[in-house]
Amino acid sequence: MTQATGTLYIVSAPSGAGKTSLVKALIDQLESLKVSVSHTTRSMRPGELDGVNYHFVSRDVFVEQIKQGDFLEHAEVFGNLYGTSQSAVEKTLAEGHDMILEIDWQGAQQVRHALPQARSIFILPPSREALRERLTNRGTDDNGVIDKRMSQARDEISHYVEYDFLVINDDFNTALDDLKSILRSHRLSQACQQDRYQGMLAALLSD
Ligand code: GDP
Ligand code: ADP
Ligand code: 5GP
Repeated sequence: MTQATGTLYIVSAPSGAGKTSLVKALIDQLESLKVSVSHTTRSMRPGELDGVNYHFVSRDVFVEQIKQGDFLEHAEVFGNLYGTSQSAVEKTLAEGHDMILEIDWQGAQQVRHALPQARSIFILPPSREALRERLTNRGTDDNGVIDKRMSQARDEISHYVEYDFLVINDDFNTALDDLKSILRSHRLSQACQQDRYQGMLAALLSD
């Protein structure tokens, strides 16, 4: 039996909207779902681990990787380079797992172009005040960085119309349920169920 390939999900949001926390909770609760570990040139935050949160690389290494065609997409965000490994995405999907890319709107545009079957989700905070409060409470960025992220938020949010789904992260568990529903409903689509239940369907249709 040939194994069905997984579905690729793009998740974007302004920095601080809660996408990393939501995606982490989603991975913990849904089976057969993986998150892509991006490469970045930004410096590591306290508590982050190389190879877990990101693959932290120098700008020289990143530029070499672009030349080698290693990235499915890459973009400059807040003055740092971020990119998604093409081979890691291909491998995960070929194994039949669904995969989430936590990437910005520029990367999302590139992935939609390369893989039009990808489904995209935009996460919104309930207000600008809530966004600033979350960035402040997270305690990972100084005020200068927070101001920069707040001014970029409007730009990122202006791209919400390009996404298939919109999730409002006001109450965390409601937003998590919404994300689960998006993934689950697709897994129940006829095409996905047909792949999963090939044997059972053949038996039901046999004499
Ligand atoms: P956070 O969003 O506040 O947690 O900040 P990060 O530094 O983790 O991410 C900064 C920005 O880079 C966000 O807009 C992400 O969506 C984006 N980003 C992260 N990884 C990638 C990637 O592999 N490709 C692209 N294009 N963007 C990425
Ligand atoms: P992002 O990855 O989008 O930058 P994070 O997942 O790091 O965002 O979340 C930013 C901060 O907001 C974190 O401290 C997180 O615990 C908090 N947070 C996330 N969702 C909510 C929510 N619904 N209500 C309150 N705080 C939240
Ligand atoms: P942070 O540096 O705060 O972790 O992430 C900042 C922004 O970079 C986030 O909005 C995140 O979505 C984006 N980002 C992280 N990884 C990637 C990636 O691989 N590609 C792209 N295009 N954006 C990324």
